[in-house]
Parts: sequence; C-alpha cells; structure tokens
Amino acid sequence: MLIASLLFVCSVDASMALDCGPKLDLAPTTLYVAKSQEIPITRVVTERVGASRNLVVHIANENKRSAMLYQVIVHRVGGSISSAYCVSSGGLTPSGTVTVKIKEAPLGDDVIVQITTSANPKAKYTIYSDLNAQRDFSTREVVRRNLYVFKFKNAPLASTSRAHVEAAIGIWRDAGIDFQPVYRDFSDSETAQILGDDRLLTVFFGQSGLELGEWQDRERVQNLKPKKESFAVVFARTTFQGFGGTRTDPYRVQIYIDEDVLVPTAPVGRTVAHELGHLLLGEGHTGSPNVPWTSGLMEAGTASTFIDVSATDAKRARTRAAQIPTP
Ligand SMILES: [Zn+2]
Repeated sequence: MLIASLLFVCSVDASMALDCGPKLDLAPTTLYVAKSQEIPITRVVTERVGASRNLVVHIANENKRSAMLYQVIVHRVGGSISSAYCVSSGGLTPSGTVTVKIKEAPLGDDVIVQITTSANPKAKYTIYSDLNAQRDFSTREVVRRNLYVFKFKNAPLASTSRAHVEAAIGIWRDAGIDFQPVYRDFSDSETAQILGDDRLLTVFFGQSGLELGEWQDRERVQNLKPKKESFAVVFARTTFQGFGGTRTDPYRVQIYIDEDVLVPTAPVGRTVAHELGHLLLGEGHTGSPNVPWTSGLMEAGTASTFIDVSATDAKRARTRAAQIPTP
C-alpha cells in the first residue's frame, strides 16, 4: 500500500537511473545547510541547490509510530525527473533517519533535488552542500583549479600538511574558488636532489634578494608544476627556519610553508589560506595604508586569527583564479 502510494507520486522509473550514492552514518558537520524544512502535507519537495563536490540529503522520520518510504531524485534544472541523474529510495523505521551522499550527479552547477515521502509524513529534510548559499555568486561562478601540494620530507609541518591544506581549501571554497589538491610527497633523497644537500629551501626577502644564495631551489620547485603559472603550496624547511620562512613567492606563483605563524596559535589552514590569498589578491594586509583588502583572512598573520573573506575580495580572487592554467 505504501509502495503504491509512493509510486503514484513519483512516476520516475527508478530502475532507469543510477543509485545516488552511499548512505552515510551521520549527517555531515563540515558542510553548509542549503535547505532544511518539514516535509509538507503534499509529500513532495522540490529544491534547487548548488554544490561543488559534496551534496548530502538527510531525511528524518519524525513519526514515532509509523514507518515511511522515501525517494530522493536528483535531476537537471529544467529537465524532467524521467531524465534523472540518480534515484535513491528506501524505508525509514519510526524515528529513523537516512543520509544519502549524492555521487551520481554532475555537481558544479545547480541541480534539482526532489524528495517524496509516503502518506501521512511527519518528517524533516535537510540538504547539505559544500557551497555557501548565503554568498552572492552563483554555482556557475565557482572557479575550479588544481592546487599542487609539495611536501618535503623534513618540512616542519609535514605531519599535519594535509589538514592545513584541506582547511585552507574550505576557506577559499566558501569564497567561490574550489581548489582540487594534487599531493606529491618527496623522500629524503628526492628532497636532497631538489633542495640540495642542506635540504633547505632558499627563501628571499624582496626583489633584491631574488638571486641570493641557492635561488635555484625555487626554480626546481617551480619546475615540478605542470605549468609554471600553476599554483603550488610547498611544505619545506627553509633557510630562514621558522615562520619567517613562510611566505608567498609571486614571481614563481607558489607559497612556502615553513613553520606556522603564531598568534598564539593560528587556526589550522589559516596560514596556507592567507598565503594563497597573497597569490590571488596581491601584496599587503587588510588595514594597512593603501591596501584595498577588506577580509579578516588578509590581516597580518602575526596579529589575527580571522578567516573571513569579504565579498569584494572573493570576487577579485575568483577573477584571478580563473587565470590559473589547467590542469
Ligand atoms: Zn601576509
């Protein structure tokens, strides 16, 4: 009876579309809530949402006595459900929940999520996305580019480099830049090959220092990228040794991360996101004379833990990011 009523509501042939993706044990905590509502009496909800890589649909049966059936359909904006990307359906026990991670749909543009439940629902749905729906740009304006991440064996932040990069990527994704990390780790002998026997990356201070010391270290690092203008994050021990060696190299379009900046403790990823901000926006810190930036993220790393990126800075950064070569 319940099945008949559900199929009456959704005329899509579920066998024609792929299963949307795996069921998760828990609702995600690191994504944005794109939509969250009670399921209406009509039992059908249609929402337009954007997502870059992660879209999750959570349904909770809030009826303590009755089981219910649900069906989630993801389809193209302007398309019909008969040409759905994917379908996910099942049953929920009284007070049961389900969390579906949408895999079988091309994210990166808006999609339609349709949720249908069986009769007499008392249920709530929440759609999670990795794009912040409060932002003033559309899903189509999100810029997706590779971010090369090089980790040398003796880098001070070697053991936590991925956490720093992932958090930094989250900060910039919120601003509409979706970096796809491409990780490459270098062994001790590879580190010696690229940085020399001292295994230190020679950093520079100002244009006059560009050709001092073993400046070729930076050139060899740059040559690890598929294109010289690609963005890279380089975890290395530098000749400066300490967070003073953590800096942006606009000449070679890469950032060097030695030790993390202390303020007393920077939030994980803040320093990497800040240095990427110098590649995307340019020199200077928010609040300094003649610096146009308005983001907390671009306040000096020794004085601020803020990670917000303003709408105007985000727009400018997206324009710059669009010039990063692919791949
Ligand atoms: Zn800075």
